[in-house]
Amino acid sequence: MPKNKVQFQQGLSLTQFLTQYGSEELCRSALFRMRWPQGFQCPECGHGGYCEILSRKLYQCNHCHSQTSLISGSIFASTKLPLKTWFLGIYFVTQSKDGISSLNLARTLGISATASLRMKHKLQQVMKERDDMNSLNGLILIDDAYWGGKKRDGKRGRGATGKMPFVAALSITPDGLPYH
Ligand SMILES: [Zn+2]
Repeated sequence: MPKNKVQFQQGLSLTQFLTQYGSEELCRSALFRMRWPQGFQCPECGHGGYCEILSRKLYQCNHCHSQTSLISGSIFASTKLPLKTWFLGIYFVTQSKDGISSLNLARTLGISATASLRMKHKLQQVMKERDDMNSLNGLILIDDAYWGGKKRDGKRGRGATGKMPFVAALSITPDGLPYH
């Protein structure tokens, strides 16, 4: 199964982090590369040609005209927060050894307590799904949601044909090795 990762290196400073992921545009292009490492592929028909509907941040397939959003099917779609806020939240949640309280997270990110709680909850949910967090040695998987639409057999969900697992990982292992 292909896994696509965002790796934030160990001890990545906030300054470095912001240089790499500090704007919505940077986050979107990082996410695009994770989701479609070989270039855009229509989740409905597999076609590679697309056009961007900029106003609605959608990608439309040139072949079957179905529309896909970059974040659909991922935890990022669970709130209305911008991607850069999510990325920064993940940075704070994973880089601090003792974790960060949702109140503190809310203040740091400038988001509501409710949004912060939901973000933390989502992240913890994903983390809990991993069997042995500790053996990952600080490396945390953000999301294993499955991207894509249904294939011709009409199946949906995790077992559906043609679904690609989307795993974004924050690699903060001491040797900086990506998780496999
Ligand atoms: Zn298509």
